[in-house]
Amino acid sequence: MQSVQSLSAMSAICSFKWPLEWDYLYFDNDMKVFFPLSPYNQQRQYEKPAWVYPAHLAMYATALSRQGHEVHWGKNDGTQYDQVIKDDFQIDIPFEDLPYPDRFLTQAKHPRWQSYGNYKFHPATHMMASNLCWYGKCTFCIDTYKLQHGEARGVRSVDHVMEEIDDLIAHGYREVFDDSGTFPVGPWLKEFCRQMQSRKRHITIGCNMKPVTLDYAMMKDAGFRFILVGIESANQETLDRIQKGQRSEDIIPIIKSMSHAGLEPHITWMSGYGWETEEDEQRSIDMCNFLLRKGYAKTAQVSVYSPPRTLPDPQSPGHQRLPKYFQAYRHPEFWYRRIKDIRQWEDVTYLIRGGRLVCEEHWRKFWARQHAN
Ligand code: SF4
Repeated sequence: MQSVQSLSAMSAICSFKWPLEWDYLYFDNDMKVFFPLSPYNQQRQYEKPAWVYPAHLAMYATALSRQGHEVHWGKNDGTQYDQVIKDDFQIDIPFEDLPYPDRFLTQAKHPRWQSYGNYKFHPATHMMASNLCWYGKCTFCIDTYKLQHGEARGVRSVDHVMEEIDDLIAHGYREVFDDSGTFPVGPWLKEFCRQMQSRKRHITIGCNMKPVTLDYAMMKDAGFRFILVGIESANQETLDRIQKGQRSEDIIPIIKSMSHAGLEPHITWMSGYGWETEEDEQRSIDMCNFLLRKGYAKTAQVSVYSPPRTLPDPQSPGHQRLPKYFQAYRHPEFWYRRIKDIRQWEDVTYLIRGGRLVCEEHWRKFWARQHAN
């Protein structure tokens, strides 16, 4: 009996988890750590630089700061640093052991992050329920690359995410976008939606989602608004080649079901696959314009196909075809539906900001082409 007790005491000791906050009692805690921020920190592709609040890096910076290290977030004071953290490949704490970000330390209300075009309600911020997509097979995606290179997938508990959401509400945030590659589904999502019932009046949620059949009405009822869906192509052969794991014929019904539930789908595509003819790509262009014109998708985004962490050639045919994905903007039906959707002042400002971002994007691509000549 005694040996059983000592064994269980031993196993209790072995399974004891050292709280992150206690590290400063034990470890060398005078490291100076610099986080030089860049518009690529939170991007899954390199094609388009964008300032997006880097939630995973912010969680790590918070952990280091709580361990007693001196964290410099984005501002180099010109002195020597013990560590420079440029991207989340350098994060050496398991995802599920990280605290949620200290948004004072990481200046989440800075205009640089607030300028992110897909936020409708400000102030807004990004969070991450999981560090890696639960699908994780698409050949072009950074999440697949990380999984193949040994990063472990972690999913935070719903309770821990709710603590973060309560903290956001307390600090006046009105919208949060979860940047997990794909938002967790199944019982996790159900529990998340259940716990959001008492909070949904205070904050709006956005997330990335694969085009799968789900209870989108439940998500809408839990306070979800913006839903970013990676379509990538209307051609089944391309979807198979990039291992997207979806059927082309399902795209329209699924985007429709999201929209009918009251969500605002944002559809993303890729142009310039080396194996697609112009005629093949036209099918994607037509589907994108159909979804926009009918109002099933509210917004769209196109990037040029390239393997992870590489830049596509700015002269590629894919770049020339990008504007074709947005021809729906010239159609009266598109504007009729957009105007019909206006409910509040934020809908107007969101529309104006969307127009401005499209113009900026055209200008950026024009500039890149001129520079490459
Ligand atoms: S579904 Fe999205 S996040 Fe997941 S692996 Fe594919 S592209 Fe990446």
